[in-house]
Amino acid sequence: MERIVYLNGDYIPESEAQISIFDRGFLFADAVYEVTAVLDGKLIDNPGHLARLERSTKELGIKLPVTGAELTAIQRKLIEKNGLVEGGIYLQLSRGAESDRDFDYSDDIEPTLVLFTQSRTLINCPKRETGIKVISYNDIRWRRRDIKTTSLLPACLAKHAAHAAKADDVWLIEDGFVTEGGSSNAYIVTQEGKLVTRPLSNDILHGITRASLMKLAKDTGVEIEERNFTIEEAYAAKEAFISSATTFVWPVVEIDGKPVADGKPGEFSLKLRDIYINTAKELAE
Ligand code: PMP
Repeated sequence: MERIVYLNGDYIPESEAQISIFDRGFLFADAVYEVTAVLDGKLIDNPGHLARLERSTKELGIKLPVTGAELTAIQRKLIEKNGLVEGGIYLQLSRGAESDRDFDYSDDIEPTLVLFTQSRTLINCPKRETGIKVISYNDIRWRRRDIKTTSLLPACLAKHAAHAAKADDVWLIEDGFVTEGGSSNAYIVTQEGKLVTRPLSNDILHGITRASLMKLAKDTGVEIEERNFTIEEAYAAKEAFISSATTFVWPVVEIDGKPVADGKPGEFSLKLRDIYINTAKELAE
């Protein structure tokens, strides 16, 4: 059955949704996006995603044509119209389209807002049981990774290389340190039991799941070190994992062909995943 999608004020079947070939999202990746997970038909961590969207639009001077409350209403309507129980809602806002291709844009350009649902198994996902294999990969992205833009070619190339190497994803490396995953934040648990993840800066996306996990991790009493870590430290770690809106927490069991510890999902990673899911469900809207 065709999905009902949202495009600039209209709810329409996906095959009827049309965008100009001059849309700057298409021509220049001049667009920002957000993905919110849906569990039991409810939005997970959504205020954080909408706050980050607002920040991304401010940083780039893209107009946000609706309020946060209106966006939430659109998301809920799409969940209802598509009978979505578990999965995600993708939201993309481009700067808009003008009458021709031009690097510069006028101040009164009207943005293009698109939202659609994606039905996915998130909780009983097999990756929870198996964990994922990652390879290290050179981080060639631009210098404002804190802004969630659709300029995702480096991530597409990196993930394709990972799949060619029979791995699931990448851990990106810059100046010898892990920045983040291909579309996730990256963490290790050291042999001493410390949770280590890269501090927030323009070098990484400020994950909404990361923010929630850091609060929940603190409550477990684990010692947290927000600092850069090398891939060699990751090879020697007790545990490794990633986080993102739709994976929540996935254990990393192999890095560059080397098993992390015994090559099985780590105890702390799985515990944090369960705590996150339980809390997120309680707070879901
Ligand atoms: N880093 C990158 C590069 C990402 O693409 C994502 C997911 N979009 C994340 C981190 C995780 O962010 P979030 O938890 O908000 O999904």
